Amino acid sequence: MTTEKMPATVRVGNTALGGGHFALIAGPCSVESEDQIIGVARAVQQAGATILRGGAFKPRTSPYDFQGLGAEGIRLLLRAKEATGMPIVTELLALRDLPLFEDVDMIQIGARNMQNFDLLKEMGRLKKPILLKRGLANTLQELLMSAEYIISEGNDQVILCERGIRTYEPYTRNTLDLSAVPALRELTGLPIVVDPSHATGKASLVPSMAMAAAAAGADGIMIEVHNDPACALCDGQQSLTPETFADLSRKIFRIREVLA
Ligand code: PEP
Ligand code: MN
Repeated sequence: MTTEKMPATVRVGNTALGGGHFALIAGPCSVESEDQIIGVARAVQQAGATILRGGAFKPRTSPYDFQGLGAEGIRLLLRAKEATGMPIVTELLALRDLPLFEDVDMIQIGARNMQNFDLLKEMGRLKKPILLKRGLANTLQELLMSAEYIISEGNDQVILCERGIRTYEPYTRNTLDLSAVPALRELTGLPIVVDPSHATGKASLVPSMAMAAAAAGADGIMIEVHNDPACALCDGQQSLTPETFADLSRKIFRIREVLA
């Protein structure tokens, strides 16, 4: 089995990615409170987002930084799903937490776990879409082999996510490899998402790169949005306000019209 023959469309709750379907995924880096997640969910939905993101289990570089609300974070995300009807995506760090993810619509395997092969095999035994993020030092071939780990166990609902790779340029958090979009398109049928938030690490750079991702033909774009970025517990510097996101969303949909 190769990803080349995979179906182009993956359904996520009441929406879909690939095969002409486009998803705008938005929400905070981390779930912080019920008011925060429901407030951001309503704002991004109003602006055209179709999937809500929010981290409950956070892979932080420092063990002393906020690690996420854990089980309580998942509970609050489910409340936001109930309040808005939006499907939700959130990261699984360890298999131990899987029972909490039953009503999560799409499981994210983050950059740091892209080659956690045991975890990938377990994702292959689920009947749920998996958002697989590219590791910070991984090639496209390695990303595709990680997708194969999931697919070969029986789950073909895999979505690939380019989120920037580490280069020698420190001005941006990572370097967004936008050529990954057309390159992966040549190599696989799987839907392709771009995350300009983790790629750039700077809110001022996110709109340009999100528009460029849309122009490159991404099947989805994932953007961090926070109601009060300056006070965010995680990744505030790269988070858009709901207002900036709404303006960007309008432009993304206009770019999509040009491509149609
Ligand atoms: C995230 O999307 O919350 C995240 C931690 O991203 P990445 O794995 O790409 O760093
Ligand atoms: Mn983040």
